[in-house]
Amino acid sequence: MLVYTGNGKGKTTAALGLALRASGHGEKIFMVQFRKNDPSYGEIQAIQKFLPDFTVVQSNKDRILVRGYFMQEDINDAHNGFLQGKSAVLSGRYDLVIFDEINIAMDYDLLPVEDVLQMLEQKPSHVDIVLTGRNAPQAIMDAADLVSEVKEIKHPFKSGIKARKGIEF
Ligand code: ATP
Ligand code: MG
Repeated sequence: MLVYTGNGKGKTTAALGLALRASGHGEKIFMVQFRKNDPSYGEIQAIQKFLPDFTVVQSNKDRILVRGYFMQEDINDAHNGFLQGKSAVLSGRYDLVIFDEINIAMDYDLLPVEDVLQMLEQKPSHVDIVLTGRNAPQAIMDAADLVSEVKEIKHPFKSGIKARKGIEF
């Protein structure tokens, strides 16, 4: 299991880069995106156009989440997203399963860390799992084979530059 965490930019794109690499070897890929509800992202359009063996589902509304302030609906969305990813893992039909932004769902208490740890114990041995998002819980990092932390040194948002097509979305 691989974890991409930290406050710098590059976690989701690292997972997508890995997926591109796996795809070249004919692997089947499943990605569930937490906190995302927009199929117009460049990566989603590219996957739909060019990568038939790469399945993507999005869970959660585009509501801004603040730690400690959430509705039952947020929990339901996180739970549903997790169940879809978990079934993909347990089915054994995929070689790589990405849970994008799941670390935030756990950090915000929308999803119990224990549920994720339990899934890791049950996963078929050929399945690789990637978890992305800031603030990965310590128990998740302990269970991982690889943890990479992306550290922000500089980000153009800080100087008022808006999200750019092809870079941020
Ligand atoms: P990316 O999707 O570009 O790989 P990420 O997955 O590392 O970024 P997230 O924490 O998921 O970053 O944040 C999602 C959005 O916020 C992206 O549009 C990203 O460019 C932007 N972002 C990431 N890091 C920062 C930062 N340090 N300051 C401001 N915006 C950021
Ligand atoms: Mg991300």
